[in-house]
Amino acid sequence: MHQTLSSPVQYVKGVGPALGEKLVRLGVFTIADLLHVLPLRYADRRTKSAIRDLQPGREKTVEGKIVKSGVTFLGRRKKRIYEVVIEDESRASVSAKFFRFRQSYMTEKYVLGANVIFSGDVSKFGTKLQFIHPDVEFFSDASEAHESEGKILPIYPLTEGVHQKTMRKIIARAWQLYNAQITASLPENIIQSLELLDIWTCLHDLHFPAEDADVEALNSGKTKAHRTLIFEEFFFLELGLALRRQSYKQNEGLSHPCAENRRSDFRAHLPFELTAAQKRVGDEIAKDLHSNLPMNRLVQGDVGSGKTLVAIEAALQVLSNAHQVAFMAPTELLAEQHAANISQLLKPLGIEVALLTSSVKAARRKEMLSMLACGELGFVVGTHALIQGDVQFAKLGLAIIDEQHRFGVLQRAAIKQKGGDCDILVMTATPIPRTLAMTVYGDLDISVLDEMPKGRKEIVTKLYREGMRSKLYKGMQMELERGRQVYVVYPLIEESEKLDLKNASNMAEELAAHFSPGFRVGLLHGKLKSDEKDSVMQQFKAGEIHMLVSTTVIEVGIDIPNASVMVIEHAERFGLSQLHQLRGRVGRGSEQSYCIMMADYKLSDDGYARLNVMTETCDGFKIAEEDLKIRGPGEILGTRQSGIPELRVANLVRDAKILSHAKEIAFDLIAKDPQLSEPQHKNLKETLSLRWSGKLHLAEIS
Ligand code: ADP
Ligand code: MG
Repeated sequence: MHQTLSSPVQYVKGVGPALGEKLVRLGVFTIADLLHVLPLRYADRRTKSAIRDLQPGREKTVEGKIVKSGVTFLGRRKKRIYEVVIEDESRASVSAKFFRFRQSYMTEKYVLGANVIFSGDVSKFGTKLQFIHPDVEFFSDASEAHESEGKILPIYPLTEGVHQKTMRKIIARAWQLYNAQITASLPENIIQSLELLDIWTCLHDLHFPAEDADVEALNSGKTKAHRTLIFEEFFFLELGLALRRQSYKQNEGLSHPCAENRRSDFRAHLPFELTAAQKRVGDEIAKDLHSNLPMNRLVQGDVGSGKTLVAIEAALQVLSNAHQVAFMAPTELLAEQHAANISQLLKPLGIEVALLTSSVKAARRKEMLSMLACGELGFVVGTHALIQGDVQFAKLGLAIIDEQHRFGVLQRAAIKQKGGDCDILVMTATPIPRTLAMTVYGDLDISVLDEMPKGRKEIVTKLYREGMRSKLYKGMQMELERGRQVYVVYPLIEESEKLDLKNASNMAEELAAHFSPGFRVGLLHGKLKSDEKDSVMQQFKAGEIHMLVSTTVIEVGIDIPNASVMVIEHAERFGLSQLHQLRGRVGRGSEQSYCIMMADYKLSDDGYARLNVMTETCDGFKIAEEDLKIRGPGEILGTRQSGIPELRVANLVRDAKILSHAKEIAFDLIAKDPQLSEPQHKNLKETLSLRWSGKLHLAEIS
């Protein structure tokens, strides 16, 4: 046998190329990956009941023949469900109800007379007992069913074409053949002091629980084995981040002493006083810039907290020291707005700002590139166009990345590369829960703008159903007559029959008709050319357009303080963080602002509860926590592109405590042995590079 744990999974006897390909969808590429697929939960087959003796309670198992199978309707709201009734030798019957199902699959699978085992919690419904979404196992004859009797059976995650039985079989086989190759990854002293298990024991106990194992603990992920694997996963994640951060500090960077008079000059020209938070964060950045260690700082601040000004002050300090500044934004619209806004703010100080996006004409671009390369141009604002290969800086001192969550660590590395050891300031309006910040941004120093500019009023947020549309229009009318402006946002631009979404352009027409002749409607969507977008935005900013109907291109950053109403159509199609971002487009002046979320009648209870979070709080951190629970971190921040390994076992919400612990220990370890060069850390180093599978080299770039 020449296979190792890192061999492709198809070489496990009984897997093969076809099944191997399907397993990829579960994130399984190698034999080691397969062994790390942990059961989602466990079916307790130790206590099979006769249906006659069944009582309501947790984790019951029964076995019987299907006597009824089909769609029925439940309750006053006539909810469509699928019901399967089984009967056993005791002549008693029990039903299983499925709320989410695909009918064709169910009717094909749950045929009358088939033998099944149901495992799960049993509840009382009227006088009858029922399972809701039980774990189901089909078997052809009684002798087969008995194979699993008396055991605690793992229930693995599945993917199309891979059955539960197959998973159990191939994992058991992989274990049998390769378990001897599993090596320790954590140092013995950590295992000892935290009372963890070794990895071999963890995997063994989770795949093949002992007969007297605690099913409750197994099902809630609270066994020692779980705790160990979770810790281990976080530990290697944090170890990688600690190394990356360490590497930032290895080289000397530039020192840009603070130009105090320039700063006060700038502040004197502002129409308002900076908030205390802006001043504090400004000082933190100023100190970093002054120091000759390279800065890697994240400014986290809710929408509207005034991040741009903080960034401009940082830019000013660097420009004063005759270094260049690049300011990168995720969309053209935003880059253009920043360029216009920043030029205006810096004009009194005699500083010019250039804009570089992909729609800058070739001749102008060439001119700009040469000015950047010789250092004639000090401050450039732009999009991804800034990190193109032929863009060179004479002396890049600071790279600012706005709305960092829209970029990945790759872009961060790319722009840093333009400036050798330039300072990096990244900004994000996604208020990241602490646990997430520790992972995604674990290699950065973090400053938080936790204060809104004075005079802001809480945005009145309401959830409307379609029937309230005329009320909505009345409200819009009132605000328009007060001289305010309105955003109307749609999730899609193209009419899609399937989703039956109202098309933004149809809506623009409808609104134009409804509010004419007094008010003008503009339409903004991703398919417009950038000068067309520009002109719409300009007109909106100038107040010539009163209502802006738009797809989500306006989501990030746009700043038009006179707009006081945000209408979000099909709000249920947006994530919470996205809704919060959209809402943040209004409430930027001192006027009362409104956010109206339009939702479908068909909204599920869950969907309703989710949207209700928005009406209950304007606190971005609370909303982010909710979003994290609902959608998971990958969705929110695109961890996939953030350059950190994905989590297999650990859960950022559930396991926050273990994460803190792992972080502390990992960072301590790197502080003591920055290169992991001590002999007892050899194992660590190997596991680390395996886990980060190449992603860590980013550290060396910077
Ligand atoms: P974000 O943090 O969402 O990027 P911006 O930097 O766009 O926020 O600022 C939002 C709005 O608040 C802008 O119109 C800006 O001019 C204004 N602003 C920023 N700081 C202050 C302040 N200290 N007082 C009043 N208004 C401010
Ligand atoms: Mg901003």
